[in-house]
Amino acid sequence: MPIAPPRLRHPVAVGRRLTGIAMLAAFALVVVLVIIFILTALDRIADYANRLDDDRSRQTTDGALRTYENQLYATLNDYAAWDDAAQFVYAADGLDWVKSNYGDMTVNSDLFDIAVVMDMQHNVILAYQDGRPASWTVGDYFDSSLWTLFDRAATAAPGSVPEATGFVRTGRGVAVVGVALIRQKTGALTIPREQGRLLLFARHLDERRVADLAQTYVVDGMRFADAPLASGNIVEIRNVDGRVLARLGWNSRLPGDLGYHQVRPLVYCALAMVGLFFLLLLVSGRNMVNRAKADEAAARRLAMCDRLSGLLNRSGFFAALGELVAEGQQRELHVLLLYLDLDGFKEVNDAYGHGTGDQLIRGVAAGLEALVGPDAVLARVGGDEFAVALLTFAAQTAADTLSDRILGFFDEPFVIGERVATIGTSIGIAVSPRGHVPGEELVRRADMAMYRAKETGRGRADHYRPEMDAEREERNQLEIDLRIAIERRELHVVYQPVVGSEGWRLIGVEALARWNRKGFGPVAPEVFIPIAESTGLIDQLGLFVLQRACETVQQWPGLKLAVNISPGQFRDPAFATHVEAVFRKTGTDPSGITLEMTEGYFIQNPERARMALTTLRQLGVKIALDDFGAGFSSVGYLRQFGFDRMKIDKSLVNALDEGERAIDLLQATVALARSLDIPVTAEGVETRQQAVQLRLTGCDELQGYFFGKPMPAEEIDAIFHGRRRLDGAA
Ligand code: C2E
Ligand code: CA
Ligand code: CA
Repeated sequence: MPIAPPRLRHPVAVGRRLTGIAMLAAFALVVVLVIIFILTALDRIADYANRLDDDRSRQTTDGALRTYENQLYATLNDYAAWDDAAQFVYAADGLDWVKSNYGDMTVNSDLFDIAVVMDMQHNVILAYQDGRPASWTVGDYFDSSLWTLFDRAATAAPGSVPEATGFVRTGRGVAVVGVALIRQKTGALTIPREQGRLLLFARHLDERRVADLAQTYVVDGMRFADAPLASGNIVEIRNVDGRVLARLGWNSRLPGDLGYHQVRPLVYCALAMVGLFFLLLLVSGRNMVNRAKADEAAARRLAMCDRLSGLLNRSGFFAALGELVAEGQQRELHVLLLYLDLDGFKEVNDAYGHGTGDQLIRGVAAGLEALVGPDAVLARVGGDEFAVALLTFAAQTAADTLSDRILGFFDEPFVIGERVATIGTSIGIAVSPRGHVPGEELVRRADMAMYRAKETGRGRADHYRPEMDAEREERNQLEIDLRIAIERRELHVVYQPVVGSEGWRLIGVEALARWNRKGFGPVAPEVFIPIAESTGLIDQLGLFVLQRACETVQQWPGLKLAVNISPGQFRDPAFATHVEAVFRKTGTDPSGITLEMTEGYFIQNPERARMALTTLRQLGVKIALDDFGAGFSSVGYLRQFGFDRMKIDKSLVNALDEGERAIDLLQATVALARSLDIPVTAEGVETRQQAVQLRLTGCDELQGYFFGKPMPAEEIDAIFHGRRRLDGAA
C-alpha cells in the first residue's frame, strides 16, 4: 500500500522564512535600543537639570541664612562700636540710656528681638525681649554654644574685631545671636578690658521669617523640616559647636522633569516616524529580496523539471528522493524505488524519428503518472529511463503490485498518430527499509536490478539482491578482459560441421567464437556474447569472426560458411559496408556465405530490418533465420522477409524425443517453410534417430553433436581431406 508522503517541504522556503524572522527581530531590536538610548539620554538631561536646580536652591538657602546672620552682625556692630554706648554703658548712671537705646529697641524691631548687656563675669546688667525685661535667665534661655560666642568676643585678640555671631537654640526656637564688646567706634576702650561689657543681640528665625526669606530669595516652599528629607533638599542650621539646631527644606521645582514631559510627545513622534521609515525600508527591501528569491526558486524548479515529459528530471528526482528517505526515517516507513528502462525505445526513435520518440516518451510519462498515483514521486531520469519512488508499509506487496501494473501497461502497443509502436520496460526494484539506505545507494541498487532484468530477458522486474554487487563486479572485470582479448585478437574461431540430410556428407561449417580467458579458462559464448552485445564490443568481435572464418574456409573449396550476426551489428548503418570490405580483403565469394540472425530484431524493427536485409542481399550473401522455435517463431516473418534458410532450434529438435505432438509441430513448421521455398536446417541433432526423423520431415541439412561438435579448423581440414570421418557418419 503506498502511503501519502506529506507535501514535500521546500528547505529553501523554510530557510527564507527564518532569515526573514531574523531580520525582523534584528530590526525590532535596533529600534528598541535606539528608543532606550534616546529616552535614557533625555532622562539623564532631566535629572541633571533637576540636580542643578536643587543645587542652586541649596546655595540660595545657604546664602539666605548667611545673610540673615550678617544682617545681625551689621546691626550689632552698629550698636556695640558706638562712642555713645562706650560712654553710657560704662557710666554709673547710664542705665536709662542703655534701656532706651538697647532694651526699648527690641520691640517691633525687625533687626533684633532680644538685647542683653553683660559684664565679663556673665553678670547680666540688662536683658530685654520684645521691649520688656526678660522673664528668663541667660544661662537657661540660650544653649551652651552662647558661651563659645561670648568667649570669642570677650577674648578677641587686640586688633581683631571683638564680635561673634552664630545660630543658637533659645527657649523660643532658633535665633541668630551676636555677642560684641561695647567700645568706641575706633575700637578703643576707656576702661580696662576685664571691666568691659558685652552686648548680645538675638534675632529669632521663625516660620514667618523663613517664609519672608523664601519669597525674597525665590526658593519654593522653604520651611522648617523636622527630619532629613529623602530628596536631600535640606540645609542644616548648626550652632558654633556643630550641633544641628534645625533644618530648612524646600520643594524641588524639577525643571528637568518639566522639560522632559514637554518634549516627550515630540520625541515619541520622532521615534515613531524613524521606526516607520525603517519599517518601510525593510518591507520594500524584503519585497525586492523576495521577488529575487521567487525568481530564483522558479528557475530552480525549472531546473528540476524535465521539459519533454513535465516530470521531475534527474536532479529533481534526487532531491525528492532525499526528502522521501528522510521522511521514511522519521515515520518508520520503507522507501520503495522502481527504476524503469524502456526496451526497444531506441529502435522506435531510429525508425520513426525523434518526433515520434518524443511523443512516445510523453505517452509513457502520462501513463505512468496515472498508474503510480499522486502520492508517488515520478521522474524521467534519462532518455528512456524513469523512476518511481514512494513511501510504504509493505514494500514487497507494493513493489509487486506496482511493477505488475506497469508491465501490464506496456503490454499494449502505443498508438502515435497512424503509427503503432510496441515497446516494453525492464524494472529494477530496491527498498530502503525505514529510510536506512540513502537515496544514492538506493538508486544504484535499483539500477543494478534493472540491468539484471534486462539481461535476463527484458520486459520483467527484478529485485535487488546483495549478490548482484559481486556479480556486477565480476561482470565488469569480464568486460574489461573481453575488451583486451578482442583488441589483442586473442579470441579464436571453431567450426561445427553441417551435413546434407541425404548421405550425411560434410557440406558446410558454422563459425562459432571461442574465448579462453587468461587465468580463468574458456568462457561460454552465452556469457561473453551478451556482454559484447551490451557494450558495443560485438561490432569488432563479429567482424573479427567473419574475417577469420572467411580466411579459413578458403582452404575448403565448395564448403559453405555460416556466420552469426547479432542485432547490435545489424543496427550499425555501415554494417553492410564492413562486410563487403571483409569479403574484398579475403577474396571471398559472398554466395557461399550465410549470415545467421535471430528474429528479435525483425520483430522490433521490421522496417529497418527489411532495409538492412536488402542491402546485405545486394552483396550476394544469404540470410538465415536462426533459432527458429526458441522465441516468438512466427512463420509470418519468414514470408515477410524472404529468408534464404531457416534453422530449427535445438529445443524443438530435442522435443522430438517427447512424442507425437512435437513431431507434428515440427512437421507442420518444416512443411510451411518448404511451401515458401525456404530450405530448413535442423540444429542440435544428437542422435541417429533424430537425424533420420528430421530427414523424413523435410530438413535438407543437419547440424549437431551427432555429426560433430564445434572444432578447430585443423580437424575440419582433416575431415575435408578424408583423413578423418564425421562422428555420426557410420
Ligand atoms: P547458435 O548460433 O545457435 O549456435 C549453435 C550453438 O549450439 C553452439 O553453441 C553449439 O555448440 C551448440 N550445439 C551445436 N550442436 C549441438 C548439439 O547437438 N547439442 C547441443 N546441446 N548443443 C549444440 P555455442 O558455440 O556455445 O554458441 C552459443 C551461441 O552463441 C550461438 O548459438 C550464437 O548465438 C552465439 N555465438 C557464438 N559465436 C558467435 C559469433 O561469432 N557471433 C555471434 N553474433 N554470436 C555467436
Ligand atoms: Ca547460429
Ligand atoms: Ca542456432
